[in-house]
Amino acid sequence: MTGPEWFVRSVRQHDTHHGTVQRCGDVVVLRPACGGASFAALNRRPIHECYYDEQRCPGCLAASRKPRLVLVAAP
Ligand SMILES: [Zn+2]
Repeated sequence: MTGPEWFVRSVRQHDTHHGTVQRCGDVVVLRPACGGASFAALNRRPIHECYYDEQRCPGCLAASRKPRLVLVAAP
């Protein structure tokens, strides 16, 4: 299992997010999982391990750790 893919909005603290990715040519547009506005990421390739812990958005980090419901068919 791979971790979340992180995309950088700015180099400020807590401004690296993960969420839904849309690629428009060379531009990666991310809709953050924390509910913030979509933005064009500074990085084209996802970051799997942030260099500094404080780079990661706490809202997106919490969203990535939530257990997900899995629907299964009833027998
Ligand atoms: Zn976020």
